[in-house]
Amino acid sequence: MKTTFKKFTIALIALLVISAIAGCSSSEKSEAEAAKENDLQPIIVQGPMPIEAEKFASKLTDVEEEKSGAFVFYKGTVDGYPVIVTKTGKGMENTAAATAVAIEKYDPIAIINQGTSGGHDPELHVFDVVLGERTVNLGSLKTQNMNEGEGIHPKEWIPMDLMASEGSAGEDPDAEKIRYFEGDETLLEAAHAVKDTYTKGKVVDGTIGSADVWNNEVDRINWFHENFGSSVEEMEGAAGAQIAKSYDVPFLGIRVLSNNKVNNGTYNPDTAEANQEYVYEVVQEYISMKTEK
Ligand code: SAH
Repeated sequence: MKTTFKKFTIALIALLVISAIAGCSSSEKSEAEAAKENDLQPIIVQGPMPIEAEKFASKLTDVEEEKSGAFVFYKGTVDGYPVIVTKTGKGMENTAAATAVAIEKYDPIAIINQGTSGGHDPELHVFDVVLGERTVNLGSLKTQNMNEGEGIHPKEWIPMDLMASEGSAGEDPDAEKIRYFEGDETLLEAAHAVKDTYTKGKVVDGTIGSADVWNNEVDRINWFHENFGSSVEEMEGAAGAQIAKSYDVPFLGIRVLSNNKVNNGTYNPDTAEANQEYVYEVVQEYISMKTEK
């Protein structure tokens, strides 16, 4: 009985000494562990499709993969600062949910939603990049009152603001307006500061329109461009922006044109990688802005 107790005490002391030594060797700590200990809030970079997320993820240091539902979070660092790349999947629902999960799990300092898009502005060409000064949901619409046999009139549809009140958006005249989500000023500042590093096209401020719709009717595209001021369309930005706003997390959409129906710009998937290279520059700039202060 006595010897067993003695052996146990010796083992316990040995264990304590070993763990103390291990704890002291800070040189063995990874960047990610150090960032975690410094309690830095991560930057989230979202991309819907593998080609829109994996390039950025491959540039992270000390990557650890975590899954929640179908969402993949690549947790790592850029310049020693924590960055989490999320492969959200396509569309508004995936993006909204992936954004809420990321905010609840990781308490991010900022969110960048990036990827490909289709042009609405004839001045923009494939490989140009739009910084989402504003993001808007192009699927939030209310139709006119029409009886049976009176037809369908998409050009008469009016915008509907689901955030106008907690009451019925269908009945409330205050809800008959466009809801724009503003891009975060500091993120925009970072994006402007590294504009010149992007050489494959121009980088402009604009309005990103989102819906689970791929518009190929030029008249409809023109209608959105004229009535909503959309520069490009995609399927995610406004969903991320809406959730980020409800938690007060800084948000910016950054979208490269992979196609533009209004000036015959045919789809080029290589734009996805080009955009991630630029967004990487933006993230580095944002980190240096945040850590200098
Ligand atoms: N042609 C692609 C399909 C992409 S599906 C392929 O075969 O792989 C839609 C995705 O592309 C969404 O994530 C959306 O954000 C983006 N996208 C690019 N151009 C778009 C456009 N013109 N309209 C809507 N979404 C577009």
